[in-house]
Amino acid sequence: MTTFYSSLEEIKRDLQTNQITVEGLVKSYLARIKEFKDLNAFNEVFEQEALLRAKDVDSRIKSGIAGRLAGMVIAIKDNICYKDHQVTASSKILDGFTSVYSATIVERLLAEDAIIIGRCNCDEFAMGGSNENSYFGPVRNYADTDRVPGGSSGGSAVAVQAGLCHAAIGTDTGGSVRQPASFCGLVGLKPTYGTISRHGIIAYASSFDQVGPLTHSVEDAALLLEIMAGADEYDSTLARKTVPAYHEDLKPTASKKKIAYIQEALSSPGVDDEVKSILINYIDKLRAEGHTVKPVAFEHLDYLVPTYYILATAEASSNLARYDGLHYGYRSPAANDLQSTYRRSRSEGFGKEVKRRIMLGTFVLSAGYYDAYYAKAQKVRRLIKEKTDALLSEYDFILIPTAPEPPFIIGKKEKDPTVMYLYDIFTVQASLAGVPAISLPAGTTNKGLPVGLQLLTKRFAEQELLDFSKYFVKL
Ligand code: GLN
Repeated sequence: MTTFYSSLEEIKRDLQTNQITVEGLVKSYLARIKEFKDLNAFNEVFEQEALLRAKDVDSRIKSGIAGRLAGMVIAIKDNICYKDHQVTASSKILDGFTSVYSATIVERLLAEDAIIIGRCNCDEFAMGGSNENSYFGPVRNYADTDRVPGGSSGGSAVAVQAGLCHAAIGTDTGGSVRQPASFCGLVGLKPTYGTISRHGIIAYASSFDQVGPLTHSVEDAALLLEIMAGADEYDSTLARKTVPAYHEDLKPTASKKKIAYIQEALSSPGVDDEVKSILINYIDKLRAEGHTVKPVAFEHLDYLVPTYYILATAEASSNLARYDGLHYGYRSPAANDLQSTYRRSRSEGFGKEVKRRIMLGTFVLSAGYYDAYYAKAQKVRRLIKEKTDALLSEYDFILIPTAPEPPFIIGKKEKDPTVMYLYDIFTVQASLAGVPAISLPAGTTNKGLPVGLQLLTKRFAEQELLDFSKYFVKL
């Protein structure tokens, strides 16, 4: 049995009519995981445990007491803590480390009878956009195994894309759910900052980090958001709003909307021609449907990437100070005193890109340069946020590509980090502004490579965003 169900609703229908069991589903995913091992999507598969849970969920379904996620087999990115399971952030420095508690989102998913089938490969500490920065090696795109799946939640995306599980949970700091979703033909949602608890998520840049689902359908994204969102005493940045019934209330938008697209997405030579023509195609379709779609200039466009990288690396340098060879994970065998424990454990434990970012972040925070870089970037972030808010008060949505190019060949861009950083141009705006954004599958290139388009909207307007997405994917 191939397990490409596009939504949990379909699975539930087949479960109800006894055409499948959850145990059978899990077995078929496990078989595919083995078959497609070379994609390198998983850092660990929880085989026995998933099978045991499946039996349990089957009996709960029979007794009529199953939760809302019964039948949903998910994978989690390997920077999400799951009690008594290893978590590595795809870094040598955490290799062998076991979580002592579960992330709030893990508890919420399990409470609704989701089955967690394994933990997925990602860029080390979620730093990257191609999944080439993992200590456990690159992940391969199922659409073309010579190409990257995007990152940093690349393993999570491929697990869903290749039918190794039904849905996955990633984290998005500057695009890490949306960009791999785009590269793998999936729906990827980054909610408003402050929607989903970060408790138990290995921190990268705390003022940006958000958890998000990677799914085949908008319906499943809505359901997972609904279950994961909401106040949590362990994360004080969360909004204390009642969580809307995103899934139950989901209905494709019927009214006419005002949509802005950033004109540089079509005029810049840095954007691939096929990506441009996919964007134009959607602009035309939306206009033909009676929506107002207008080009707008975003004069801060050139500042998005530098601002993001100054702030994200500054926060990372502080967050990653805790990996000192004493508290967590790896300790250099050559260490012989306090200094050498720190120096050697960190030098040997972190990968190249992580070290580069720690140094960059430490530099922009250093006494002599703080005002010139960190403080200035904070001010520019404010401007970007205000400009984005102003646009979103005039328009319902901003439509832009998720990434400037389709998935590229593994190893092609890795050598020059600044080329990779520029790749984040379209995803970091929502991250800097803290607004929600979703990447939706929008077609493929002539070579059959997936391309996604992104919609941004106002803070906490996820329902409108999901409603419009449900309509958009049918266009
Ligand atoms: N590519 C971006 C970076 O490297 C985003 C990563 C992320 O969202 N975790 O920082």
